[in-house]
Parts: sequence; C-alpha cells; structure tokens
Amino acid sequence: MGKPTGFMEYQRETPSKRHPLERLKDWQEFEIPLSEERLQIQGARCMDCGIPFCHTGALLGGMAAGCPIHNLIPEWNDLVYQGLWEQAFLRLYKTNNFPEFTGRVCPAPCEGSCTLGMLEPPVAIKSIERAIIDRAYAEGWMRPRPPQRRTGKRVAIVGSGPAGLACADQLNRAGHHVTVFERADRVGGLLMYGIPNMKLDKSLVQRRIDLMVEEGVEFVVNCEVGKDLPAQKLREDFDAVVLCGGATRPRDLPVEGRDLQGIHFAVEFLTANTRRLLDGEARRPDFISAKGLDVIVIGGGDTGTDCVGTALRHGCKSLVQFEILPEPPRERPPDNPWPEWPRVLRVDYGQEEAIARDGADPRIYCIMTQKFVGDEQGRVKEVHTVQVEWVTGSNGSRPHPRPIPGTERVWPAQLVLLAMGFLGPEQTLIEQLGLEQDRRSNVKAAYGRFATSVEGVFAAGDMRRGQSLVVWAIAEGRGAAREVDRYLMGETMLP
Ligand SMILES: Cc1cc2nc3c(=O)[nH]c(=O)nc-3n(C[C@H](O)[C@H](O)[C@H](O)COP(=O)(O)OP(=O)(O)OC[C@H]3O[C@@H](n4cnc5c(N)ncnc54)[C@H](O)[C@@H]3O)c2cc1C
Ligand code: SF4
Repeated sequence: MGKPTGFMEYQRETPSKRHPLERLKDWQEFEIPLSEERLQIQGARCMDCGIPFCHTGALLGGMAAGCPIHNLIPEWNDLVYQGLWEQAFLRLYKTNNFPEFTGRVCPAPCEGSCTLGMLEPPVAIKSIERAIIDRAYAEGWMRPRPPQRRTGKRVAIVGSGPAGLACADQLNRAGHHVTVFERADRVGGLLMYGIPNMKLDKSLVQRRIDLMVEEGVEFVVNCEVGKDLPAQKLREDFDAVVLCGGATRPRDLPVEGRDLQGIHFAVEFLTANTRRLLDGEARRPDFISAKGLDVIVIGGGDTGTDCVGTALRHGCKSLVQFEILPEPPRERPPDNPWPEWPRVLRVDYGQEEAIARDGADPRIYCIMTQKFVGDEQGRVKEVHTVQVEWVTGSNGSRPHPRPIPGTERVWPAQLVLLAMGFLGPEQTLIEQLGLEQDRRSNVKAAYGRFATSVEGVFAAGDMRRGQSLVVWAIAEGRGAAREVDRYLMGETMLP
C-alpha cells in the first residue's frame, strides 16, 4: 500500500474536460489527462483493501459489481503511486487485453464497488487505468509480442468486436493460427462503428488492430459468415470456431407511423456518422444528418446519449431525449447498497453538451411514444406522446407503465432515433449451425465453458450474454479462448 493515510489526505480528482461548447465543434476526445504527479496522488488514495471489492466482478442485483476481468487494481494503484509505471502496465496487461478501450468507455463498475466509496468519493481507478496504458504506448512498451512457437491449430472467429478481438489475442498468444471474419469494412465491432469518435478515437482502435496483425492475427473484412461464406465451411476448414457476432437486433417501436422516413435505429445513425468521419463526406454523402432538424432520441441509456452528442455536433435545431422509466435518484436508494452498481442519476457528456447549448437537460422521464405523424412526402413531422406512471398490479406483478389521461403532447420532429436496446443476436448463423438458444434468444453456452450445443463451436460476448459492456465482452472473449485452447490441446495455460 502506497500511502496508508492517502485516502484521508487527498480528494478524488478526475480529468477535466474541454468546455462542452468548444468540443461540440469537433469529433475529438475531450478529456484532458491529469499530470503524472496528480495521478500518483490519486493512486495514493487506494487503501489496498484486504478484500478489494473493486476487482471482484460479481453480478449483484443483476449488474456487474467490481471489475469483470478482475484487474489487479490495488497493485497498480500502488505502483503508480510509487512512480513505477512500467510495472503498473505489466500488471494491468496481465488481465486486460485492451485497457485503452476500457480506460475510455467503461462505466467503471470497479469504482461503484470501491470500499472508499462507502464514505468518500471512490478511487479514480478508470483515470489511472487510462493513464497507464497511454503511457505504455508513448514509451514503446506496447510492442508486438508474437508467440514463440505455433501449435498448427487453426481457429476461426466470427465478429471483430471486443469479444472477438480479446479471444483472438489470447488464442494467438497461445500459438494458434487465428482468422477473424468481419462483415463490416473495418475491424472493431461497436468499438469502431457504434461508440462515437469523441468517446473512443478510431485511430486507437486501428492502432491495436495493426499490432495484432503484426503479431500474426489474420483479419478478413467484408465477409459475412452465413452469407458470403457458409458457416459449415468454417467447421470444415478450422479446428474450432468462436462466434462473437454481437447482439445486433435493435428493439423496435411498432406504433402507428413507424414506416415514415426520418425514423432510424441509433446504430444506423452512429455508424453512418463514423463512416463519414473516416472516409470523408465526399465518399459518404448519404450519412444521416441532423443539421437544422428537430431531433427526438427515444431511449435514455448510453446509446441514446451517443445519439445526443452526435446530433448536437451536426448542429440540430432542437433535441429531446425520451425515457419511459422514472428519473433515477441522486443518491443510492436503500435497495441499491454498496458494493452494487449505483443506479443513480448521471449527467453524461451528451447531456452536459445539451445543457451548455440549450440551457436544459434534454431528458424527459416517464414518457411514452404513441404514434408518429408524417407530411405529404411521407417524412416524419410529429411525435405524439403521453406521460406514464409506473404501477404494480394488485397481485404483485412487475411494475408496468400506465398512461396518465390529459398528459398527451405533440412534438415537432424531422429526425427520430430509436435507442431502446437490443433483442439479441441475428438468426442466420444460429440456424445454419443448428445451435441451441436460451430463453432470451442468445446462443446457449454456459458462462465459464462457452461451448455451444455443437461440437467445436464456442460463443462469447453479446451474442452469448445479450447486449452488455465492452469489459464483459473482453472477459467473455478471454474465457472462450481459454476453453478453446483446452479443447484443442487437452489442457491450457491461458488465464
Ligand atoms: C452505440 C453504443 C454505444 C456503446 N457504448 C458503450 C460504452 O461506452 N461502454 C461500454 O462498456 N459498452 C458500450 N456499449 C456496449 C458494447 O459496445 C458492447 O457490449 C460490446 O461491443 C459487445 O462486444 P461483442 O464483441 O460481443 O460484439 P460487437 O461489438 O457487437 O461486435 C460484433 C461484430 O460481429 C460482426 N458480425 C456479426 N455477424 C457476423 C457475421 N455473420 N459474419 C461476420 N461478422 C459478423 C458485426 O459486424 C460486429 O462487428 C455500447 C453499445 C452501443 C450500441
Ligand atoms: S476497493 Fe478501492 S480502496 Fe480498496 S483496493 Fe480497490 S481501489 Fe483500493
């Protein structure tokens, strides 16, 4: 433990951000990293708990509590405090293949479970993680580490999101020949086309892919398995197959007027925007622009926030974000105690920017969309809503929304973005391989084993657990790699 009294002496400090009005002018990341000295002070706040809940990674109350990949957080907090940055990097890299991604986009369940958080603001774990890995790249410690020998076994991975990438990285380290098939034109899954550039710069994703290529991983893009390449062919040509295709079926809103032009799924909007950014507007003139439009984002979660930040950067005329659930409390409620993930109100970057530009938080709670109304050209022009209250049936049934008469309202909208979550994986691959599915339509494969109902076929990430987090995808990709290695070699040294 670096400084036994650090948690009493120092306040939590996290990186400041560029002013919202300033950052709305570009697509660059907006956090301003802390200096080395200030980060060391943050490391000194760690109490090196006997039971470090920050790295437990358990599911409590249905949410991740602590780090799902069991990062050795107290160890690297201490090493950073001591100024031993390379040692800290080596500790971090033991458990996390991609700290440059989690250090930027992870909601940090570790901080929600930090013991210090019971009485004081928690240790700034995520900022320290990001600083360690950014420094590792700057110092040249992140260099290609190809395996010393090859096993001669061949593994195919379908999907190049964080689950597929983590699985590929681990299996390559174990000496297997890994080929990752991706249907998009770029590698990275939602890291590339989903999470916007201002949260995760795409050059950082590409930098990591390039390193993996140097280490011997092969990527095949523009190849949809099940369409461009029959799934059975993978089974014939490879010793094992890992499915990491994500949970890409978006939840729809089948109300009157849904077919009108100008109503899009969030990922469609976000993907088109990143493509334009990377390829240039001349090559992507058909991106979905919010410029000058009244925009309504339906869905109050993180994907909705990304739509808010993107539409504001386009220069939308007005913006509101609907959430059917009630506004979360500002403090942990009694039924959500530490070390559970705190289900409290957060003002994320998109809302900060809307407040700075328009003077108000764009979120409206307990609101339900009833129908969309269009103009003569078939374009959406209005969204009709009603306020709801959440009621529980007399038999104790799950709470459900009940419209409140007299609260109907009509909103002008020429662009509507649906960000209401995801229903599970697509069916093509599942049907072609004859895989069993669980009750939620995900590929059936027990956590920890990752083996599907078909011999030699494994599944990981959102395709197995449903829409989740980057850090869970990494945890699943690592776990699946371990089980594939065991399947191929009879034993495994992979963690
Ligand atoms: C807009 C958005 C923002 C998010 N922001 C965050 C965040 O800030 N922090 C966080 O922790 N989580 C975030 N998430 C969730 C997180 O991105 C996912 O949980 C994570 O990416 C899942 O990883 P995965 O590898 O399982 O799947 P994905 O990342 O979905 O990757 C699956 C890949 O498989 C490919 N694929 C599918 N089928 C085939 C096929 N048949 N052949 C070839 N390729 C195929 C897809 O094209 C895709 O590239 C966000 C999600 C969204 C939608
Ligand atoms: S729970 Fe918090 S204080 Fe305890 S070891 Fe983890 S980061 Fe340090």
